[in-house]
Amino acid sequence: MSETPAGRPAADHVRIYEVGPRDGLQNEERPISLATKLRYLELLADAGLREIEATSFVAPSAIPQLSDADELMAALPRRAGVRYPVLVPNLRGMARAETAGVDAIAVFTAASDAFTTRNIGMTVDESLEAFTPVLARAGEHGWWRRGYVSTAFGCPYSGEVDPARVVAVAARLLELGVDEVCFGDTIGVAVPPQVRDLTARAVDARIPLERIAFHFHDTRGTALANVAAAMSSGIRTFDASTGGTGGCPYAPGAAGNLATEDLVYLLDAIGLEHGVDLDGVLVAARFIADALGKPLSTKVGQAGGWDPRTGQATGRDRGRE
Ligand code: MG
Repeated sequence: MSETPAGRPAADHVRIYEVGPRDGLQNEERPISLATKLRYLELLADAGLREIEATSFVAPSAIPQLSDADELMAALPRRAGVRYPVLVPNLRGMARAETAGVDAIAVFTAASDAFTTRNIGMTVDESLEAFTPVLARAGEHGWWRRGYVSTAFGCPYSGEVDPARVVAVAARLLELGVDEVCFGDTIGVAVPPQVRDLTARAVDARIPLERIAFHFHDTRGTALANVAAAMSSGIRTFDASTGGTGGCPYAPGAAGNLATEDLVYLLDAIGLEHGVDLDGVLVAARFIADALGKPLSTKVGQAGGWDPRTGQATGRDRGRE
């Protein structure tokens, strides 16, 4: 990874933050075994992904698919240079994360009270209060910390969201110690002008560009356009889910998370460095699609990559041999 002397990513380097094992799987109905999850995580690291959100320490009853978080993190072989953040909602989850040998966490709030009230039973302010001791404790341990601001472009319960509120929530999270804020387009309604506007407002609020990530959903086909808009504003960190797992709970049958393979194809074609191998991502994408009993429905999962020397698609058979 090329870095400036300040330790910041060089301008041509894009960070891909993989969310498939956590955000992707949590919405999938078919139960996935611990062994399958561990293999998925292994394939993702094999593909060159260096930040892989592994699971969530929410109450096991809240998300049954991720109720094996303790076993998973205890069994997961750590690799040098790979960060495995986990979602931690409260001090109870924090105690579990400590026992499981975690060293990077994410907390999850939103820009609309209607959303947090339905999803985590708290207003946004109450959620920030709940995270305060969690983030302080993680800071004492020297752990990496991320804060999600969901519904950054629209809420499934209250509609339009004021970008000033989005930035205000992000600023509070940074005050509480997070290393990075991640703006989530939870229902996949964002378009490029909104992305540029939100980024400009964040910069005006003195939030450094390198501490901003975007989490786009391809629900309405705008995810890559939004990535391009964010990149033109100087953002270099994007979330994606290998295999496009997860769907969209607010639009049954629709796509959700931007697929890692679709993002990697775009970045490769532009010539931006990111350290992730498309063929390796396609292997992991096919593996998890098979485990879920679903066809791989992402764009690049279906079409493959493209070799300009031969004109042929690439990677279409990877993971099938
Ligand atoms: Mg998502």
